[in-house]
Amino acid sequence: MQTMLGVAGWPVAHSRSPAMFAPALEQLGLDWRYVRLPLPPERFAETARVLAASGYRGINVTLPHKRAAHDLADELTDAAAAIGAVNTLTYADGRIEGDNSDAGGFLDALGADPAGWRCVVLGAGGSARAVVWALREAGAAEVSIWNRTAERAAALAGDLGVRHAATPEAADLIVNCTSVGIDQSVGEAEAVAAVGLAGVDPPARFFDLTYGPEPTPLGRWAAAGGATVGDGLEMLVRQGARSLERWTGAPAPLDAMRAGARLRPSP
Ligand code: NAP
Repeated sequence: MQTMLGVAGWPVAHSRSPAMFAPALEQLGLDWRYVRLPLPPERFAETARVLAASGYRGINVTLPHKRAAHDLADELTDAAAAIGAVNTLTYADGRIEGDNSDAGGFLDALGADPAGWRCVVLGAGGSARAVVWALREAGAAEVSIWNRTAERAAALAGDLGVRHAATPEAADLIVNCTSVGIDQSVGEAEAVAAVGLAGVDPPARFFDLTYGPEPTPLGRWAAAGGATVGDGLEMLVRQGARSLERWTGAPAPLDAMRAGARLRPSP
């Protein structure tokens, strides 16, 4: 039977994952296929449970199914259990294992050890949860969360045992986990104001989870202030690489995945 991989989401036509995984599988010499699985929420769990019977070794899971994937897995990694969301399902020996590779993928893409750093995370959604957990586990000296809707930041900070900041403070690392910057037509000043950074000194390092063909508005702000700027596309590659390594047991060919991820999605 053909070995299959895929990405389940709703919608999923925009996903860069098929373009990222195809050259990686080719380079590994594996005759496996990676496909889009457009699944509406009411079909996700029943479909995900039976994919192994159709040759699936694993799937990536994207919005809005990360919580449902967490709930259906037979086993969870520590990251998936703590974050409460799964983006990688692996089918093995009749069981379904759930992992969250966003946390490790973020640290891989950061490319430096944040132990001892003061860190500010902007945003309180699903990606902020993974990033806060990753920074805390990696030994950051302090992690504080700022969000437009303050109650969500306070709730997340309480859940993960870190601080809620009423305004973003100066830090060694600031991470943008809001969707500000996805719309590349938003100007730098508008983006900076939207995430409360007006008047804040740019940090030594800035990481923007959003990405696009051009540097993001917040990335431009940070770079102009002398920051080393990390890239959401590299995080996409690194979390995908972690999934691939889990499924194949082989080191992921990162350069092939980077080249594929840069291609525009074609449904
Ligand atoms: P999410 O759960 O929907 O959370 C969105 C966050 O953005 C919330 O904190 C929300 O604040 C904030 N926000 C939205 N519009 C805003 C605005 N105009 N001004 C200020 N804050 C605003 O989304 P997510 O899954 O965490 O994803 C967040 C971003 O990270 C997205 O751009 C996503 O594409 C990116 N991401 C990238 C990767 C990667 O691998 N590179 C992985 C995951 C996510 P409120 O609570 O006030 O609404």
